[in-house]
Amino acid sequence: MVVTPIARYGEIHRHQTTDRGDERMAEQPTGRLTWDQYFMKVAHIVSERSTCLRAHIGAVIVRDRNILATGYNGSPSGLPHCTEVGCEIYTSTTPEGEVVENCVRTIHAEINSIAQAARNGSAIDGADVYITASPCINCLKVLINVGIHTIYYAKSYKLETIEPIVAQVTSLSLHNVVVPEGQK
Ligand SMILES: [Zn+2]
Ligand SMILES: [Zn+2]
Repeated sequence: MVVTPIARYGEIHRHQTTDRGDERMAEQPTGRLTWDQYFMKVAHIVSERSTCLRAHIGAVIVRDRNILATGYNGSPSGLPHCTEVGCEIYTSTTPEGEVVENCVRTIHAEINSIAQAARNGSAIDGADVYITASPCINCLKVLINVGIHTIYYAKSYKLETIEPIVAQVTSLSLHNVVVPEGQK
């Protein structure tokens, strides 16, 4: 398990210890995205298809530099989208006593990417996921059980709620990846 602090562009690579580490750590020619930035950029584009008004999130599942599945926030197929009928908000209270609001109409991007993989018969055990925001605790639990090894996120979202779980899963690591301004 590795939890890296919020890192700026480039810093993430100091934490990489994968079997293709040397290549990943190499400086990229000027203006060329690293692989991590490339897949995160794809995740940002995927997020543009989101239909929940509360958040536009994209997720891309990758193994060996191949995109296996993508997903974004949206309603189940055939049901109205939040952009058409508004969000359906419910409030709940966390164990820490914080009152939080969520939209029950939408499926989160991470779960939709897993659903796409399932529908297409793509095995995602051992894959990585690139998400435009760090996963909520519910998505994190599912990502663990489908065998995701590394979670790359752009924006941090309630990291403090997932870090205690990440810390207990030896097969899982969490990294921040930021696509430089101007290359998004
Ligand atoms: Zn919504
Ligand atoms: Zn989620």
